[in-house]
Amino acid sequence: MLTKKLPPLNSFLSLVSRRASHVTRQQYDVIVVGGGHAGTEAAAAAARVGAKTLLVSQKIQTIGALSCNPSLGGVGKGQLVREVDALDGLCGRAGDWAGIHFSILNRSKGPAVWGPRAQLDRQRYREFIQSELLSTPRLTVLEGSVEELLVSETNPEQPGHHRVTGILLANGSHPVSASSVILTTGTFLSGSLFIGQSTSPGGRIGDAPSSSGLSHTLKERLGLRVGRLRTGTPPRILRDSVDFSLAVVQPPDGHPTPFSFLNTRTHCKPEEQLPCHLTYTTPGVERVVKDSLHLNCHIQEDAKGPRYCPSIESRVLRFPGRRHQVWLEPEGLTSDLLYPQGLSMTMPPDVQLSLIRQIPALHRAKIHTHGYGVQYDFVCPTQLSPALQVKNTQGLFLAGQINGTTGYEEAAAQGLWAGVNAARCALSMPTVSLSRTESYIGVLIDDLVSRGVTEPYRMFTSRAEFRTALRPDNADMRLTLKGFEEVGCVSTLRYQEAVRVRDSLQDAQATLQALSLSSNSWKKQLPDIQISEVKNTVMTGMEVLQYNNVSFEMLASAFPESLSRHMEFSQRLKIEAVYRPHCNLQKKEIERIQKEENLLLPHDMDYLSLPVSMSQEVREILDRVRPSTLGAATRLQGITPAAIVHLLNYVRSAE
Ligand code: FAD
Repeated sequence: MLTKKLPPLNSFLSLVSRRASHVTRQQYDVIVVGGGHAGTEAAAAAARVGAKTLLVSQKIQTIGALSCNPSLGGVGKGQLVREVDALDGLCGRAGDWAGIHFSILNRSKGPAVWGPRAQLDRQRYREFIQSELLSTPRLTVLEGSVEELLVSETNPEQPGHHRVTGILLANGSHPVSASSVILTTGTFLSGSLFIGQSTSPGGRIGDAPSSSGLSHTLKERLGLRVGRLRTGTPPRILRDSVDFSLAVVQPPDGHPTPFSFLNTRTHCKPEEQLPCHLTYTTPGVERVVKDSLHLNCHIQEDAKGPRYCPSIESRVLRFPGRRHQVWLEPEGLTSDLLYPQGLSMTMPPDVQLSLIRQIPALHRAKIHTHGYGVQYDFVCPTQLSPALQVKNTQGLFLAGQINGTTGYEEAAAQGLWAGVNAARCALSMPTVSLSRTESYIGVLIDDLVSRGVTEPYRMFTSRAEFRTALRPDNADMRLTLKGFEEVGCVSTLRYQEAVRVRDSLQDAQATLQALSLSSNSWKKQLPDIQISEVKNTVMTGMEVLQYNNVSFEMLASAFPESLSRHMEFSQRLKIEAVYRPHCNLQKKEIERIQKEENLLLPHDMDYLSLPVSMSQEVREILDRVRPSTLGAATRLQGITPAAIVHLLNYVRSAE
């Protein structure tokens, strides 16, 4: 996979412009508006499912651009990247191609919550995405701005229900028709940029906002509830002006772990990868923020910003007196620039310079581009179905930041799923959904459509009740087979690889299971391991592998004939053995819920006094709706499978 050569970018651009003249005369199955992280995954997924697809984006050069931090993955987010990859999406392979510093975050915790992450070379990432789109069959790319959505009433006797019929481009050319349209306008919908006291229209620095026509159609014509959110980005600093001797070096992992299940190595070799550096804010930073608040209109606005990726202004105002981490991250292998993660700011340019110079490693730093903030419209996502289709508008799908999320990974995951469903809708196939029990993508979409957002939503492992089963290592086993057999978005090549992995894992597990010895015999075979707490009982190889001090390599050296052929999967087998008992318990709970679907819930139940293991939100929903059966409770928006388990246990114990 990584041996391929990318075509020069110019060939992509010329192909796109050559195609443009034919575009408006055609009828498409799916049109995707916006070529960010949601839009590129959506367009590629729709085409993979078999739809004739058009991707329209304002500027061809910015397709696949990383608007803010040059990095991918992290805790919770890395799981999303692995799942997008398992469904044959683009971002995992793009990350392996463009990564220049790979690390696994959270390594001190269990592998279920490890966070695969990479620092990226911006240009390489964009080039990979563009090259993938270029070679995707059934996909056409057009440079242009979408001015309007074309919609019609589905039934005049049922006002308020619409059907999307296509788009209108800003240059006044003919309308372009399609059965499905996916909007992925990111931070561009009615976008305004903020720096110091000045404000200007824009979706990102150097880019115009999305047309007001689109916002108007969503709000006025379709009657959708729209809110306002904000985010910001730090200044970019010239690398040569930084005193790295005053920061702590953070090298990449010695053995980089690729994001993609198709890759066994990353494009950038370990010895070529670049370090990051860690430094901290000082009291001087806090003083500059406080002294310049009156010059900073972004921070005074009402719109909610990202709580988990806050600006330096929000950090020092929320936690005064603390020192805050600042990561100095390279923007590319040959780039002169550094991205100071943690220093997102919107104060005037001269104040930005005096602020960063309060940090010892940056005492003579020079700014290349100033930080700024952006405010934009988002559509309240409770108005969407789990297929990410707008409930009152057939054929209209939304994905990415427009749904109130923040981050490339969240956008990519929604984009892929919206692309799949928009294509299936256009091709008259039923829409498909992913549950919270099988994927982080399912958790993300369920959270959005059933609970909505009050601030930019980002993924965390704590949001997934079944996180021990939803691990980065097994995303292919959870999703690739389904993606091929039921969804239609996975290539034969990837499917065949997943089948090979599944068969090998099953074979290895069966061998380990059949390796059944008394604990005394195990101790003789493996004198170094301590399984003393177990009496002389019979234990299988899978059970022994659960022990902290036992590795698959140790078992394979004791039983080379039966196990050494499975060395390729040594880490996966170890992780599977450790989590299997807990996952089996959870699986049983899910099956128990399915069996108890018809359990009657007492009509006078005092839901508000249920144990605190159930959130206040869940108790309030149950109290308001008062479902008659457990099955009815499972179908309520905002009720998680974990809450249902608590409810079932509570009702049964009260009998
Ligand atoms: P985008 O990547 O924004 O892509 C939208 C695309 O749609 C663009 O290509 C645009 O040109 C195109 N487009 C828009 N309107 C039209 C139209 N009418 N016609 C044609 N094309 C159109 N994320 C974080 O996780 N943490 C952060 O701290 C953070 N800070 C950010 C700061 C700034 C200043 C910005 C701009 C973004 C920041 N992000 C941050 C957000 C991150 O960039 C997004 O989460 C991610 O890019 C969302 O992907 P998307 O596909 O939804 O939208």
